[in-house]
Amino acid sequence: FRVCSAAGCLSSGALEVRSGLEDAVEREGLGENAQVCAVGCLRLCCEGPLVRVDPDGTLYERVAPDQAASIVATLKGGEPSARRGDADRPFFSLQRSIVLENSGTVEPERIESYIAAGGYRSLHEVVREMNPAEVVDLVTRSGLRGRGGAGYPTGLKWGMVAKNPGPHKFVVCNADEGDPGAFMDRTVLESDPHRVLEGMAIAAYAVGAEQGYIYVRGEYPLAIRRLETGIRQARRLGLLGTQIFESPFNFRVDLRIGAGAFVCGEETALIASIEGRRGVPRPRPPYPAASGLWGNPTLINNVETFANVPPIIRNGPEWFASIGTAKSKGTKVFALAGKVRHTGIVEVPMGTTLRTIVETMGGGAPDGGTIKAVQTGGPSGGCIPEDRLDTPVDYESLAQLGSIMGSGGMIVMDQGTNMVEIARFFIGFCMDESCGKCIPCRAGTVQLHRMLSRIIDGEAAEEDLEPLRALCEMVKAASLCGLGQSAPNPVLSTLRYFEDEYRQLLRPGA
Ligand code: SF4
Repeated sequence: FRVCSAAGCLSSGALEVRSGLEDAVEREGLGENAQVCAVGCLRLCCEGPLVRVDPDGTLYERVAPDQAASIVATLKGGEPSARRGDADRPFFSLQRSIVLENSGTVEPERIESYIAAGGYRSLHEVVREMNPAEVVDLVTRSGLRGRGGAGYPTGLKWGMVAKNPGPHKFVVCNADEGDPGAFMDRTVLESDPHRVLEGMAIAAYAVGAEQGYIYVRGEYPLAIRRLETGIRQARRLGLLGTQIFESPFNFRVDLRIGAGAFVCGEETALIASIEGRRGVPRPRPPYPAASGLWGNPTLINNVETFANVPPIIRNGPEWFASIGTAKSKGTKVFALAGKVRHTGIVEVPMGTTLRTIVETMGGGAPDGGTIKAVQTGGPSGGCIPEDRLDTPVDYESLAQLGSIMGSGGMIVMDQGTNMVEIARFFIGFCMDESCGKCIPCRAGTVQLHRMLSRIIDGEAAEEDLEPLRALCEMVKAASLCGLGQSAPNPVLSTLRYFEDEYRQLLRPGA
């Protein structure tokens, strides 16, 4: 019996369900033949607590603790009182799992479970059979691009850090996932923490680093606890620490807990925060690959990027490069949220259309409604209208529509959504999260928020739309870091596709 033990299902009572299953297994004397496992995310978060019974894969949804005994009784031919889910529905059948291949199978708090699933074999292969340059070359040939949002080629970045001289080098995992509606990285960390640790260790070997940090948001206590457990277990087995696999390779990982500032997801602010300074961005260059932590070459990748690395080593770069589109290889994990029937986590090959994700897999808008738009990329992204949903999900296609891939948040909006309100919500978020270092962002987001409020309150006129656009362009062009540079995107994309909604709110007769 596999019980989802990620934050979503735990918050709806998975712990009590697990206890109920364990009690029933004991009562029925099935201890020899049945086992209750706390596994990572089973993905259909809206229907939790979820329980899957293997090997046949029967899924039970919204399981109450008092239904647990009836699920155990099915092993003896009983009828379950819990609701059976459709494990073959497109939400599951259209997924392609690389990053999440262990999610829902492996027990995240037991390293033995990860090792039994082939974990740490890629690290062993790399450390024992490859030199660092070969690892960089392999990752380059796979075509993996950074999953944090910008899509920078991972192998290229590794190669730069490897070549840059420095007495010390560092590897940093950016787990400061802060976009509203995004929970992909949290899911990966809660479901398969060793996968991320293994990916980081392989990267450290490739670039010549001996110290790694995971910068994880303080709002993710379960992910933090599982990472701490994972690091402790890996050290105990000699998979992290000194002379890994009896080689000269040493690598230590420590956690750094963020204090809730969205801007600390920006790499230079993140570096400042790890160094113990206030988390504000600085101008680049120099880029962290040349001068990062304490002035040393530093490799920063996000959670999903590192999680892709062990299977690339195991299956080869050609395998990975055969999945996805010409320029965007592999899969992408999305957090599907908002006005959609099936909310949860999906992993699909790059190139899958937005319509397939939100309509076929997500089941469309709930209560017979229709989808109006999809927001990708969080506050840095844009709103894509329904008539563009046949766009394939890849870095270039989304950029052409005025949005971005971002780290993978996907918020669905239905016809009842006011798009000007949405634009104001995201600008308000950026206004609150602006670190205040540079004026275009600090003052510009406040002004944009005021202008949108005037429109919503019916106080703006036709001639106010052009200054709104102009200010968006100025904030984009003149802000120091990605937060300010992308903050106007939701305003610009809603103006581009939903200008009529703005016009309907303008002062009559103006
Ligand atoms: Fe700070 Fe905004 Fe300037 Fe970035 S763009 S440095 S968040 S004020």
